[in-house]
Amino acid sequence: MTDTIFPKGDLMKGKRGLIMGVANKNSIAWGIAQQLAAQGAELAFSYQGEALEKRVRPLVESLGQEPFMLSADVTDDASMDACFAAIEKKWGRMDFLVHAIAFAGKDELVGSFTENTTREGWRRALEISAFSFVDAGKRASRLMTDGGSMVTLTYLGSERVVPSYNVMGVAKAALEASTRYMARDLGPSGIRVNALSAGPMRTLAMAGISGGKSLMRTGREWSMMKEDTRMEGVAGAALYLLSDLGHSCTGETLHVDAGFHAVAVPSMDDDDE
Ligand code: NAP
Repeated sequence: MTDTIFPKGDLMKGKRGLIMGVANKNSIAWGIAQQLAAQGAELAFSYQGEALEKRVRPLVESLGQEPFMLSADVTDDASMDACFAAIEKKWGRMDFLVHAIAFAGKDELVGSFTENTTREGWRRALEISAFSFVDAGKRASRLMTDGGSMVTLTYLGSERVVPSYNVMGVAKAALEASTRYMARDLGPSGIRVNALSAGPMRTLAMAGISGGKSLMRTGREWSMMKEDTRMEGVAGAALYLLSDLGHSCTGETLHVDAGFHAVAVPSMDDDDE
């Protein structure tokens, strides 16, 4: 594996898991994958369609592991069946799942939530961005015969109103609530389920949101640390949640956003004296 910004070690040695949602080198899932590989994890990657396979394979090859690549469209049961059957065939069992998948139509990620949210747009956004975690989590849990850990990626637009985030905010609220219910169901089997709420990052998904650049700028300027959310921090938090360091942490939404989520008023002018 080529040198990366991600610390090396043995925290994930002997653990095997599936990464869903690498589209390119800027994907959050790719940052997490590099960190997990640097700590000894063995990884499978799912991708949607042949074009993505061509883009993702060279990245996976750079990890120095034999690429284990699986086609999976989360809206298609047959494709999900085949993906998890292939994991069972090759590994027999698995230890972790990373879910970094979301989608909403461009027309819905702009302007008025009330005016622009259609029945079909709502259905698609919630199916791809929230139900897909329930479905993948159910399938993964059946292979986590010795306990395990699952992480999904979310954003603050679930808790507070963010311009243009619209139906995706509703989908992320459903995703976070699903995380808690899954954590309750799977806890007795030693499986932890958590959500990681990342601050704005420059990825393909972010490019689909109208005003994405301004979201990035506000995320930086209003944050407690006055800086962008860094991939090292997001990947490090995923490592904590997915490794044994995360013992006893489940049903949680962990914010990694330079403190942005906790700020109500970013600054005050001294204009009332
Ligand atoms: P990204 O690189 O574009 O990743 C999104 C992934 O979702 C892509 O691999 C995409 O594949 C996949 N996907 C969409 N529809 C799918 C389907 N039907 N079946 C299978 N895969 C599908 O963007 P990202 O920012 O890293 O997003 C990863 C996660 O982080 C998302 O849940 C996002 O909401 C969340 N997040 C992002 C930010 C941010 O600022 N970027 C902040 C907080 C949370 P295709 O390219 O084939 O559609």
